Amino acid sequence: MATKQFQAESRRLLEMMINSIYSQKEIFLRELISNASDAIDKMYYRALTDDTLTFNKDDYYIKVSADPENRELKIVDTGIGMTEEELESNLGVIAKSGSLAFKNENEIKDGHDIIGQFGVGFYSAFMVAENVVVYTKSADSNQAFKWVSNGLDGYTIEPAEKAVTGTEVIIKLRENTEDENYDEFVEEHTLKSIIKKYSDYIRYPIKMDVSVQKPKDNEEGEYEEIEEEQTINSMVPIWRKNKNELTDEDYKAFYAEKHYGFDEPLKHIHISVDGAVRYQAILFIPEKTPFDFYTKEYEKGLELYSNGVLIMEKCGDLLPDYFGFVKGIVDSEDLSLNISREMLQHDRQLKLIAKNIKNKIKGQLKTMLKDEREEYEKFFEAFGRQLKFGIQMDFGANKDDLKDLLLFYSSKEKKLVSLAEYTDRMPEEQKYIYYATGDSIDRIEKLPQTEMVLDKGYEILYFTEDIDEFAIKTIMSYEDKQFKSVASGDLGIESEEEEEKEKNEAEDNKELFEEIKTLLSGKVKDVRASKRLKSHPVCLTADGEVSIEMEKILQQMPDQNQHVKADKVLEVNINHSIYQSLKGAYDNDKDKLSLYTNILYNQALLIEGLPVEDPVALTNDMCKVMA
Ligand code: ADP
Ligand code: MG
Repeated sequence: MATKQFQAESRRLLEMMINSIYSQKEIFLRELISNASDAIDKMYYRALTDDTLTFNKDDYYIKVSADPENRELKIVDTGIGMTEEELESNLGVIAKSGSLAFKNENEIKDGHDIIGQFGVGFYSAFMVAENVVVYTKSADSNQAFKWVSNGLDGYTIEPAEKAVTGTEVIIKLRENTEDENYDEFVEEHTLKSIIKKYSDYIRYPIKMDVSVQKPKDNEEGEYEEIEEEQTINSMVPIWRKNKNELTDEDYKAFYAEKHYGFDEPLKHIHISVDGAVRYQAILFIPEKTPFDFYTKEYEKGLELYSNGVLIMEKCGDLLPDYFGFVKGIVDSEDLSLNISREMLQHDRQLKLIAKNIKNKIKGQLKTMLKDEREEYEKFFEAFGRQLKFGIQMDFGANKDDLKDLLLFYSSKEKKLVSLAEYTDRMPEEQKYIYYATGDSIDRIEKLPQTEMVLDKGYEILYFTEDIDEFAIKTIMSYEDKQFKSVASGDLGIESEEEEEKEKNEAEDNKELFEEIKTLLSGKVKDVRASKRLKSHPVCLTADGEVSIEMEKILQQMPDQNQHVKADKVLEVNINHSIYQSLKGAYDNDKDKLSLYTNILYNQALLIEGLPVEDPVALTNDMCKVMA
């Protein structure tokens, strides 16, 4: 019989397991029991939905037996079993959920962290095993198979005898070392407490033969020790338990057990609804962004149970995209077992549950924002971007659900603020909610366009993410206040007097600005005296809907958006000494005017973070000025 090699990824995981210095080696039992439970789930579901199968609830159990003499531990289940092909593809290749961990090299370097925070499934057995044997018989086959591996050397598969459908995993413990006593994994007491600790809520009985003291059947009142089969777990799923009986640790353990993420949950929401629709749910808001979250590969969804029976591992219809980061399970007695995926989409009960869940999540986030600011900011750091996408999606249909959950960096507070906080402290005469866009807070802080608004004492929100301005354009206004970019045409900060003065000045400058406009034709739409500059001579702004920042983003997108351009306006600070130079050049030396115009225009481009069209020409121009 040929020995087969594990796939490369599996081999690395295996290597890690074998050399693991991870202290919680005991979690291997949690993993094997969880696999057994999954397999029984599948069998149970099949029996319930297939009329040709007879069904007896007592047939579904997991049994853990220890053989201290031979230092062997056996985990038996009456689940769906595996065919030869399944053995090959499931145990020869790392399971999909586990392989996620391997996409990120950094995670690998910190190997034992993966083991701790993220379950690793079947291979974790090799943390304690010198050798693993699996006997399995699939519900779809009459032939049983035996799978054997002692770790890195590979594995073998051969036909075997097994009477009933299901799987048996036999672990031969490693030799004890100075630091590790593997014998504890065949001790009754230790096994019982590991099962209680990690697998208490498993919905099938986890049985063990335990020794108990029983009074002897005689007069002397003597006791004898006998073996008795007991169910170790309470079997009540955690979501059916009373919230008051559960601790944070219980929820965290469940999160880890379910492999919801590498991290610990930031928040859990335990729901029990008994109204128009009945369901229980445990939802988690993760602390960290899953590394594939903002990619196509990420699949949102919650586990869906119908009265304790798993019917779907990832039900996407239960979560709106913008809350796609939420993990967890939903169990409802109102859902039919036989429902197909297609039908589920249109199921009225499911829609009600989804709506209810959406509101619970929203409520939880609002409460966090109000009462646990630090936690909320952590959340926002990880998933705020998704909320902004949510605002934009479906033509803004969800903006009212989400706008209160947004945070932006504030020029005034030097930290994140909500829109409500901004509008609450707006001075009465302030007409708009001001924002400035740029690559970073640092860069925005230096933008000339912010000068006048800040000078007025108005707060500016800093938009550093490409999505920010698009999201805000979808919201349009908050508390009846419209959003206004500090780089947009009319800032609305001037008194009538000031406006009158500007008008007169505009008249005076008309000819000069017309000349500059001609020099820059095709590049800017207009040239104007600036109302926002203090210390800088020039800046660029945009008229109309498309801002300069939006143009930058759209330019990076493929095809159809390439032609979208901002209507750029060159603003000149007429109180700056440079303005006098321009005027002088206009009156006396047209070549000089052209030279100055080019340099100033390019400076404005640079400040905006836009590419200079002809760097060589610019440097030549600068040399001319210096010469
Ligand atoms: P995961 O449980 O995340 O899929 P594992 O490494 O724990 O990853 O298991 C790999 C696969 O092996 C499972 O998905 C399942 O198909 C199969 N498997 C493991 N244990 C059993 C079992 N006791 N009965 C049936 N199939 C099993
Ligand atoms: Mg598993």
